[in-house]
Amino acid sequence: MNPQEAVTPLRAPVVLVVGLEPVAVEGCTVCTAQVEAREAARRVANTTKVKTCNEELVNHPHSETKGAA
Ligand SMILES: [Zn+2]
Repeated sequence: MNPQEAVTPLRAPVVLVVGLEPVAVEGCTVCTAQVEAREAARRVANTTKVKTCNEELVNHPHSETKGAA
């Protein structure tokens, strides 16, 4: 039994869950650097830096990407 499923309905805001982190856009050196920095931060348990890197990844604009919402 998973008590969390019984207690928490699916109406929570989106949160970053371990294993569902943003990934680098292929070919983007900035994103790749952020991923590398994130992994380095994780190795030293610097969760603040990990979050910062994730935010940078999410917010990094890519002018080459089509389909502006
Ligand atoms: Zn990027």
